[in-house]
Parts: sequence; C-alpha cells; structure tokens
Amino acid sequence: MTGIADRYTEGRELEISGGSAAAVASRVPVLMYHEITAEPVLSPHLSVRPDEFALQLGYLRGGGFASLHAAELARLMKVGGGGLPAKPVVLTFDDGFADFHDCALPLLQRYGLTATLYVTTGWIADRERPGGAGSAAASRPRTGMLSWNQVEAAAAAGIEIGAHTECHPQLDQLSPSALRRELAGSKSLLEDRLGAPVTGLSYPFGYSNRRVREAAVAVGYEYACAVANRLACTSDDRFALPRLTIGRATRLPGFAQIVRAERLPPEFLAYRLLTKGWSAVRHARSALNRKSSE
Ligand SMILES: [Zn+2]
Repeated sequence: MTGIADRYTEGRELEISGGSAAAVASRVPVLMYHEITAEPVLSPHLSVRPDEFALQLGYLRGGGFASLHAAELARLMKVGGGGLPAKPVVLTFDDGFADFHDCALPLLQRYGLTATLYVTTGWIADRERPGGAGSAAASRPRTGMLSWNQVEAAAAAGIEIGAHTECHPQLDQLSPSALRRELAGSKSLLEDRLGAPVTGLSYPFGYSNRRVREAAVAVGYEYACAVANRLACTSDDRFALPRLTIGRATRLPGFAQIVRAERLPPEFLAYRLLTKGWSAVRHARSALNRKSSE
C-alpha cells in the first residue's frame, strides 16, 4: 500500500479461461479492493469510486453471482473444490480504510453480498500504540482508517475479518522473529477483540516466499492471500491465494470479463510485467539479507 501501487503485482501468468463449463467452474475470481472513495487517502490508483463500486455490485447481484468469504473458499479448496456455487466470487478489502464502514459495507448490504476485510492492526484509528513499536506508528496513515468499533460492526454484519499484519511490512525481508511477531500479533489482537478465530491473512504488497508461507502455517492461519492478478483455481496453494486488483482503471466491461472468468482486461498485462521485475528485486534483497545475517 502506501502509494506504491505498482508493487501490487506479484503474479504468474495472465489467465485466459474460455474452456469447458467444468474448467470455468473451478476458477474463482478473488477480487482485491482497497479504498472505496472519490477522495483516496493514500493511493488513487487502487481506489474505486463509490458509483463504480455500486455498478460492480449491481452486476454481481443481477448476474446471480454468489459471494463467499475467502475462508469459505479456502475450506472448499481443502476438500477439492466440491460445493462451490455455480458463479462464485470473493470480494476482499485490504488495509482497513474507514470507507469500508462508511461506503462499502452499506452497498454490500444493499446488494446482498458479503466480503472479507483484512485489517492492518497497527493502523486502526483508535488503537493504543504498543510500546516499542515505533515503526507501526511511523508507517500508519494519519487519517481515514477504521476504528475498533467499525471493525466490530463489520464482523457483526457478517463480514469475515482477517489479518493484514501489524505494521504492513514486506514480510519476505523480515528476520524470523520479526516475521512471527507481525503474523501472530495481528491475529491474536483481532481474536481477542472480536472474540472469534481469525483464520485468514493477506500478505502486505502481496509479498511472500516459502519461509513466509511456512511461518503463516506455523502461526495458525488456515489460508493467505497473495495478489498474482489471475483467477484462483481450486488446486492452488491455499497460502498463496491469487487475487485480482480492482482499481480506478477497472471499468464495468472489464470487471464483467473478470468475474465471468472469461478474459482479463489489458491492464492486467501491465501488472504482470511489473510483477516480474519486482519479484527479481525482492529475491535478490532476500538473498542479501540472508548473507548479511550469516
Ligand atoms: Zn496493504
């Protein structure tokens, strides 16, 4: 996040699915949103205007799509994908912007859809700053984030609440102890506050590697979202669930192509190309970090 939208590009191949009905049914669009506002706090590129968002939800509702929580999708993937609805879609929201409460949630309710919200716990508006966690405060947006009451209201409205770490770091660059702290701290804080298990994680910037994914398993998550900008398959790794970036560039015709699992719009080609560059940089950085700590 934090204005470096182009980093949301971890991914593999641009997916075009035009095959059999069975093949289409096993592909699930998992959509990644951030801000739903005409006046973005941090990243215009990743924001969606409320009127455009309403059009998208209207399309889903009118088209007979069934929204599921990411946790439900992960659970169905675990048992081979059986039980998926005919036209599944997963809507996810990263970071915990206040406009989820003020704008997205009322629209989701109006159109009878549900979603998953991944909260960066260090950014919660009225959270007490933990002692010694200066980086959380430093990296925290100054305004526009959800309060605890608003997170609780979302949970009470049937929204799945997942974790998006404590301070929103690039997890693949952290030491093992810092990595565990980020993954476990946000999970336990949300669970304590909400009084319910938090089983889902969204990697900040979509970044993960094998070490990060293994840490997520060890901490007790049951699935985790990456970005990847392709449709999810029921055979995918549940700890690198691919999502599709929905942003300001997404128009309704392209949105319709995505959720019908037919074809991805041209902007996803750019996302893919950027991904490859960033992926190489991150792997080089990780190798250097390992070397310097030896
Ligand atoms: Zn984020």
